[in-house]
Amino acid sequence: MSLETEQINELHWLMEMLHTIDVGLVVLDRQYNVQIWNGFMENHSGLLPREVKDKSLFSLFEEIPKEWFIRKSESVFMLKNKAFTIWEQRPYLFKFQNYRPITGTADYMYQNTTFIPLMSSTGEVTHLCLIVYDVTDNAVHKQDLEQANTELAILSQTDGLTKLFNRTHWERCLQSEYKRWTRSQHPSCLVMIDIDHFKKVNDSYGHMVGDDVIRHLSGIIRQHVRETDISGRYGGEEFSILLADTCLENAKVFADRLREEIEQAVVKHNDIEVRYTISLGIAEVDDSIKNYEAWIECADAALYRAKESGRNKVMMHPKQ
Ligand code: GH3
Ligand code: MG
Ligand code: MG
Repeated sequence: MSLETEQINELHWLMEMLHTIDVGLVVLDRQYNVQIWNGFMENHSGLLPREVKDKSLFSLFEEIPKEWFIRKSESVFMLKNKAFTIWEQRPYLFKFQNYRPITGTADYMYQNTTFIPLMSSTGEVTHLCLIVYDVTDNAVHKQDLEQANTELAILSQTDGLTKLFNRTHWERCLQSEYKRWTRSQHPSCLVMIDIDHFKKVNDSYGHMVGDDVIRHLSGIIRQHVRETDISGRYGGEEFSILLADTCLENAKVFADRLREEIEQAVVKHNDIEVRYTISLGIAEVDDSIKNYEAWIECADAALYRAKESGRNKVMMHPKQ
């Protein structure tokens, strides 16, 4: 084989590879007119090389933000350096549909694109090559993972029965509220709630009915609190509510309203009707309370007095 034939063969092979490779290859001239358009681009756009040849990239693909693209490309032309765009910044350059069977949930193909300066024999950058990578699999998996992590984080903070915060997370919130109070000294109240004679509910009607009562109380709590309040299931049939920026007097009004509403309510489970009451203890944070655990103890002591004095009561930790 002569040297010339060998070189022609090599060129032919290179062209063949360029057209079949599973990434997009586009060459643009200085005016952003398409010069080369490989098989990947043809397959995904449905446009043949002869249909795009010498046409402006922006007239062919209106989704490409012209100003941004030119700014990016000009720096490649001038500085003779590569440039990149990744899907996290811009999901795609060319809006191609996504045909992947596994990641078919994505509406379009996510792309990373590299801009490469192409130099002429005189050392001048006369053309620009775009290499377009289909990164839909990566993008979809990363998004799925992020969503799963978010759901997991929420789940790890939530009580399954009531969907209120669980004790661990609620205590974390209380701790940060206590810290906030040490700086701001804004009034802040803690309310501890315990269902009265709850064992009797379980014993008389069974645990399913007991669970309904717990859910009922959590629903009423949710209706009564403001967005800034933080409510949690502290234990079995014990609940805790942090009333941020609320003084003792207002917390008492809140607690009385809650107590009265529960007293009036009827929980229905098939043909069973259950009435129940709650006892509440309130503690406003002050200088005598040295940490968040002590704050809980104060509210719990008030709750204990509510129980002792006959239940279905609201008691307050005396202000120091
Ligand atoms: P008191 O008025 O003194 O609070 O009386 P009580 O019967 O409510 O006593 P206590 O608060 O000690 O009772 C807690 C009961 O709550 C005991 C436990 O079996 C029940 N319990 C705890 N968690 C759950 C739950 O998730 N579902 C149901 N159905 N019962 C629960
Ligand atoms: Mg209890
Ligand atoms: Mg109880």
